[in-house]
Amino acid sequence: MDTYFMTNSNCVHCGRCVKACNETRYKFLYGHRDDCPHERHDNPPCHICNDRFSKVPPCQEVCHYNAIRITRS
Ligand code: SF4
Ligand code: SF4
Repeated sequence: MDTYFMTNSNCVHCGRCVKACNETRYKFLYGHRDDCPHERHDNPPCHICNDRFSKVPPCQEVCHYNAIRITRS
């Protein structure tokens, strides 16, 4: 199974998710305001970070625009 981190058109590229991921979790996201979020590699740790989809991860907590979707299939 693979995990996917995606953003939708609601994203305003504010960088809050990047900061949250880097300061509290796996440093998976990078970029800065108006040029983000980017993924560091093709193997997202997000299914671990959200405790197998039982918790809201920090990136989604801080996103004011409901722009982040994490899936696993
Ligand atoms: S916090 Fe949300 S709106 Fe801001 S860059 Fe991340 S996904 Fe986009
Ligand atoms: S789910 Fe966790 S590891 Fe994945 S982008 Fe969000 S904060 Fe980073």
